[in-house]
Amino acid sequence: MKQIDLLLTGIGSLYTPEGTQPRYGEEMGRIRETTGAAVAIEQGRIALAGKEDEVIATLAGIHIAETIDAGGRMVTPGLVDPHTHLVHAGSREHELAMKRSGVPYLDILAQGGGILSTVKSTRTASEQELYDKAGRSLDEMLLQGVTTIEAKSGYGLSLETELKQLRVSRRLHDTHPVDVVSTFMGAHAVPEEYKGRSDDFVDLVIRDMLPAVAEEGLAEFCDVFCEEGVFNVEQSRRILEEGKRFGLQPKIHADEIVPLGGSDLAGEVGAVSAEHLLTTTDQGLSSLAAGNVVPVLLPGTSFNLGLSHHARARDMIDKFRLPVALSTDYNPGSCPTESIQLIIMLASLNLKMTPEEILTACTLNAAAAIGRAGDIGSIEPGKRADLTIFDAPNLAYLPYHFGINHTFGVIKNGTPVAWNRTLTEKGGIAR
Ligand SMILES: [Zn+2]
Repeated sequence: MKQIDLLLTGIGSLYTPEGTQPRYGEEMGRIRETTGAAVAIEQGRIALAGKEDEVIATLAGIHIAETIDAGGRMVTPGLVDPHTHLVHAGSREHELAMKRSGVPYLDILAQGGGILSTVKSTRTASEQELYDKAGRSLDEMLLQGVTTIEAKSGYGLSLETELKQLRVSRRLHDTHPVDVVSTFMGAHAVPEEYKGRSDDFVDLVIRDMLPAVAEEGLAEFCDVFCEEGVFNVEQSRRILEEGKRFGLQPKIHADEIVPLGGSDLAGEVGAVSAEHLLTTTDQGLSSLAAGNVVPVLLPGTSFNLGLSHHARARDMIDKFRLPVALSTDYNPGSCPTESIQLIIMLASLNLKMTPEEILTACTLNAAAAIGRAGDIGSIEPGKRADLTIFDAPNLAYLPYHFGINHTFGVIKNGTPVAWNRTLTEKGGIAR
């Protein structure tokens, strides 16, 4: 250590999972708690974390450029949101009354609503419009305590618009303090012009989109909506295998509505993560476990759709020892919220996860779902200095006192980007 750039003192309680790998099953509940803690940061990385008096004793004789007092508040790793559809145009609140009065989703879709209306607005929007709207959502996520997210394309469903969405994600990653990890999801739906010809659309994704995305280096992951009436298992397999040839690691939207076999496929193709999993069978969960796939659960979506069934988080953790992660699924249709803290509450209420498991699922395991467990997701020397400071006395308080934002401050790469509940001058994007 030559110099400490920032020393965060006065931490009432510091909570973190440990390690550079996802935490499996009962390990998810093992959280290290340090009361009276401090974190020392050097060049954007954590140099030391522990009891404040011990940290200060270790730093004797070392220059400390800046000290900030957390005022006795609680600190966790910066939260990670590993499944969002961040970049899109338009919104769909005009469909709310129809939905509430029971009009089936397929009827709304037939009237040009649903995902097709978002595709239409996203195709006509300029890159700047997409950037401005997504940037505002990223600000909101940051103020919730999120420091890294994943963002999927999939509202273009044409070469040109898929590339446009991914370029916006990259520009946001470059200009916004929140890190944005990109996933290509050209196979999110079958566009109107390919209605009834889904195999032809799969050909287009493989022949035109994948090479173009790879050539520009626009994505790390390739995702597909494997679902009845969308893309079947064989089509999904083709896309994910081809994606691998182009260096994109597979992810899959699996078993959301019908247990089609997406979880089995996830295990077979070596997917990094499988998403939703509302109807996954025991066999599917075994396949995820055998394939080291991270299940990403999205309780905000089942909540917002008014479903009475939820992903089997307890079985995943207790019986199958899976490394569960949580995410908002932020999108303009089934889950229009940037609030990871709402997801924390719903994971407690509907998935019966403990506060400790939820923290692991929103930090280290969420990082593993986007291939980042070695770099973020815990407060340990060497990891990126991404920290969230909460106005809360302990971990259980987050799901307990619900519906408000508990985040007091956020430190990203060692820089305070939100403090006293507002973005600092380094917090937002340059607009
Ligand atoms: Zn999704």
